Amino acid sequence: MKYILAFFLLTSSYLSAQKYFTEKYQPFNSQIESPESFLGYPIGSEHTRHDNIISYFKDLAKNSDRAILRFYGKTHEGRKLAMLVISSPENLKNIDEIQEKHLKFVDPNIDLEANENDVLIINLGYNVHGNEPSSSEAAMLSAYTLTASNNSEVLSFLDNSIIFIDPTINPDGRDRHTQWVNSFKGSPLVKDPFDIEHNENWPRGRTNHYWFDLNRDWLLGINPESQGKLNWYHQWYPNVVTDFHEMGSQSSYFFEPMKANGSLNPIMPKENYIDLNNLFGEYFSKSLDSIGSLYFTKEAFDGTYPGYGSSYPDLQGGLGILFEQASSRGHVQKTNFNEITFPFTIRNQYVSSMTTLKASIENKIRLINYQKSTFKTAISNAEKDKIKGYDFESLDQNLAKAFIDKLLIHKVKVFEKKPGSYFVPTKQPQYRMVQSFFETYEKYRDSVYYDASAWSVANFYNIKYKPTYKGYSDNEINSIDKFVKWSTAKKSEYAYVVESHDYNIPALIYGLQKQEIVVSSSFKPFKIRTNEGIKSFSYGSLVIPVKNQKVSSDIIHRAIIDLQSELEITVHSVKTGLSIKGIDLGSR
Ligand SMILES: [Zn+2]
Repeated sequence: MKYILAFFLLTSSYLSAQKYFTEKYQPFNSQIESPESFLGYPIGSEHTRHDNIISYFKDLAKNSDRAILRFYGKTHEGRKLAMLVISSPENLKNIDEIQEKHLKFVDPNIDLEANENDVLIINLGYNVHGNEPSSSEAAMLSAYTLTASNNSEVLSFLDNSIIFIDPTINPDGRDRHTQWVNSFKGSPLVKDPFDIEHNENWPRGRTNHYWFDLNRDWLLGINPESQGKLNWYHQWYPNVVTDFHEMGSQSSYFFEPMKANGSLNPIMPKENYIDLNNLFGEYFSKSLDSIGSLYFTKEAFDGTYPGYGSSYPDLQGGLGILFEQASSRGHVQKTNFNEITFPFTIRNQYVSSMTTLKASIENKIRLINYQKSTFKTAISNAEKDKIKGYDFESLDQNLAKAFIDKLLIHKVKVFEKKPGSYFVPTKQPQYRMVQSFFETYEKYRDSVYYDASAWSVANFYNIKYKPTYKGYSDNEINSIDKFVKWSTAKKSEYAYVVESHDYNIPALIYGLQKQEIVVSSSFKPFKIRTNEGIKSFSYGSLVIPVKNQKVSSDIIHRAIIDLQSELEITVHSVKTGLSIKGIDLGSR
């Protein structure tokens, strides 16, 4: 009897925990496991590790004909970046055709009318800040609802959209936080905000492995998480993208519209940050009202920096939506309004996820037409622009390569005029990214920014550029493979010399030092006879003497050749230390 009772209590607590979240979308297919039953604990009673989230998604993909699991990369710590792709079985069968049709709407050269049969592309993205954990738990509830519910509303979501659920944008940060709060969880739970459970040690879980804030990296694409995401992004151009966060425990809930002067962006269509945000805001308010959750809008946050997860989609014809939930940071914390629990925060994120789908599907044709018009106005706005493009040049090939790589990540077209001289036209579908990369604004209203206030990427890279009033369209650069021209250094028994102006110099020095090869640098310029003829070297040029090293001349040569092929740097070999002009190689 005891056992039966225990089983009953366990089952009923599962049921009630499950009901707390998903009751609205009954009936559910009992063949599909809920996250609670798969994980063995009610959602919100633990923080779920990323690998367990992936295991659950694998289980859904295996057992449901509405879901397939795809991976788009790996983090620095080797965790998998995944998307559960959910739609009706029929849509999933035709996913390639749906993608092909969808991409026609982002091509300004194609004129296609959106109709009721078109399928919306939606990206539910969660947990970019690792220690804002409620949303990944909500991701599992959303995935469960979409794969298991036979509610007519859910079936309509599936018929009308392909939903890409990215449960954890920042798995390394999430697991750092997950480990912390699960380790310090007490029984009974401790609500005291000063308890160790609620106060992570530095560096905390917000950032990724190298402590980068991934919610600033959508523009620069430095980290594998963002590179994988951007690569996926330009294959799908989602119509709607969510970006779920958490804020201070004493707050309530935030959804867009943002602070009015924090939304003003001269290059973003007003329809996005005024009309569509207000339209979606109505939906969010209604659904949060229905569960009694308080919220605020328009008082805070800005959406102008293109590297935010909620802004980048706005420049790509989509609607990016920021959500901020007051954090329980841990399982429960005392607040001015009694207490805030982890399940409560998860429910708000889950409700907003499902409401995003509802608002999107009910405005499907409008969203498709909006995306289409965003890319058409990119061309028409560029035609009105006096500036026809930007010329830039760089004698440092690796610097040009790094900068062009950034342009290509965002599908910005770039042309080579002559070696070292390049052109980016304004009249192209990614006109708004061209503006983001090159335009510099010097006047701002005060007190607008949450943090990022400048993002002119050409200046970040110290690229010399200028606007031009004439177009150019020969020699498009489609890839940075074999971009840099360099020749293998001949073996020297005396020394090697490397010009200082190369983007990859720090990597070269590191690579040599790792093999215990001593490198020196010249404090003054010099001109010397090399194997490739007489060359001038500027301040800071590297000199790698061959003798007086711990390793042989063969090993030094091998190391240089290997590093050259990795870093594409020109290295000169010399037979003498006597310069033609300036200091000699043995200068004191
Ligand atoms: Zn955040």
